[in-house]
Formats: sequence, structure tokens, C-alpha cells
Amino acid sequence: MIRRTFFFIFLTIFTLSLSAQYRQLNRLLQDLNATLQWNPTMGMGFIDLQGGRVIFKLGAPWLLIDYYYLVKTPGVIRKDGAILFPERSIVSIEKYFKAKAERGRLPRVAAILIDPGHGGRDPGAIGFHIINGKKKKIQEKDVALKVALKLNAMLEKEFSDKKIFLTRKDDTYVKLEERTKLANDVSIEDNEAIIFVSIHANASFNKNAKGFEVWYLPPEYRRNLINPDSLEDENKEIAPILNVLLEEEYTIESITLAREIISGFDREIGNITENRGIKEECWFVVRNARMPSVLVELGFITNREEGLRLEQDEYLQKLSRGIYTGIRNFVRSFESTKGFTE
Ligand SMILES: [Zn+2]
Repeated sequence: MIRRTFFFIFLTIFTLSLSAQYRQLNRLLQDLNATLQWNPTMGMGFIDLQGGRVIFKLGAPWLLIDYYYLVKTPGVIRKDGAILFPERSIVSIEKYFKAKAERGRLPRVAAILIDPGHGGRDPGAIGFHIINGKKKKIQEKDVALKVALKLNAMLEKEFSDKKIFLTRKDDTYVKLEERTKLANDVSIEDNEAIIFVSIHANASFNKNAKGFEVWYLPPEYRRNLINPDSLEDENKEIAPILNVLLEEEYTIESITLAREIISGFDREIGNITENRGIKEECWFVVRNARMPSVLVELGFITNREEGLRLEQDEYLQKLSRGIYTGIRNFVRSFESTKGFTE
């Protein structure tokens, strides 16, 4: 009998301490002044607070903070219709955001990579046009490089605090793998992002085709952003989930960047040539760059009128300014809307 009483006392204490280890999600949101997006199909929640995000999955042994910081957790559970958050994990979240605020490290774009397409023995698209009775050859690699160099100068002037890289500075051949490796090797802090802009010119059998367009990666394309080998053993199984989440983040940012560049072009040359809009494609360079990335097509080298324009310094200046304005607006909104608001 005494034994049984002890057992019940023990059970009561155990149950009480168990419930004390959890906080109701609704209360947690109030406490942290946070908002929730809930995905019932995946059993996943996205908690937005202080310009950052905490992602959890019911029953999963991890939490992901700011798409970067992985925290072990006893698991977020559902009990009697309520979602319960482990106190232990709340401590981790609070610690993270306190440290982040103290460091004053706001999300920022740390580096911009400009990638002039082709080069050296790879001329890219070529257009032949007769000008004043003479045959004139226009090559994509030259147009891309000229625009990239102008863009580089504009960005360096505007953003002295950022690293601006070119994947090539002259007429040399750079392998595609080397370009993306260069991009992926740039070291950044956890609050920083890199953007990647590849510059090309178009060609078509249809000599009338003209205009500018910007490509980004389609959302359904599966990239390997996180290598499972880089994760600890017990976390390996979550690599695919992390990949999907990161990919969504990069896709949204890539589309935003593409939109900004298109409207930059539209302002500069919208009255001169066609706006062909934003498109999706799995270009190699874009696909392997683990960051928001777009591919810009300046115009059609094979169109006589446009081909000749792509030879004029003044026109190339306008194109460069279009891309520059797009990048600048992207950076501004990235650094302000993702930053702390208080
Ligand atoms: Zn190209």
C-alpha cells in the first residue's frame, strides 16, 4: 500500500514536471511577439520573430533557426489539439535571438558575383551583320564582358562595404565548374547572403527576335544545397528537408532579383526594345550556385538592329545601369525588410 502511494506521488510529480517542460504554442507566440505560418500537410510551422525565422516539424528532433542554425529538441508535440513547445528549445531560441540582437548583425548582402558568360576560346553566340558593305562579327563573350565591367564599376562605387567579384576580367576561358566554385567558396557569416548574376546575350534563327529577359531557377528543381556528409550522423536524415527549405528561400529571392533587374532594364531601354520578361530555366551556372542567382540575357546578337546596338558603348551603359538599378533595389529591400524593425 505504501509502495503504491509512493508510486502515485511519483507519477503525479512526474506528470507535473512533464507539463512544466512544455509551453503552449499560442502562448509562446505571444511571449516572443512572433507570428506563425502553419503547414498542416507537412506538420510544419514557421515562426517569424525579430526579422528571423524558426522552423519546426511535429515530432522531429530538430529546429532550424534562420535557415542556418540547427538545434536539437525533445520534439514539438501535439496533445489534446494543442501544440506544445519544449521549454528547453525555447531557451535555445531566446539565446540565439538575444545573441543576434547583441551582435547587431542585421541580414545583409555581403558579396555580389558578376559572371560575364563565355570567354577565350568560347565566344558564345555570334552574329554576322553587313555594315557599310563590310562584314561585322559580334560576339556574345565581348558584349557580356563589357557590360560586366561597367556594372562592376557601378557596384563598387555604390557598395564600398561589399565584396564585388568578377568570374573573369578579360577575354579568358573559365570553366562553368570554376565559376560556380568561385561563387560557392566565398566565405560569409550566418547573417550574410551572396547574390550571383550571370550575363549573357541571346541568339536565334529568327532574325527578328529581340529584347531582354532574365532567367531564374524553377522552384521544382532539386538542388543539393546541403551535403548530408557535412551534417552529424543523427541529422543526416533531415538533409532533404533542409534542402527544400533553403531552395524555397533562394527561389523566392532569385525571382525578386529577376523582377528588379527586369524593371531596371525596362526603365533604361523599355522604349527601345522588347521586354521578354522573367523565365525559368536550369542553366548550369545558376543551378550550381548555392545562393540567389539569375541569368540575364541582354538582347539578341542575331538581330541586325539589336546586334549593332550591342556594339555601342552608350547602349551597353544603359544595360549595365539597368542591371545595377535592379541589384541596388534588391539589396535595399533585402537589407531593410529582413532586418529588425524595432
Ligand atoms: Zn551565353
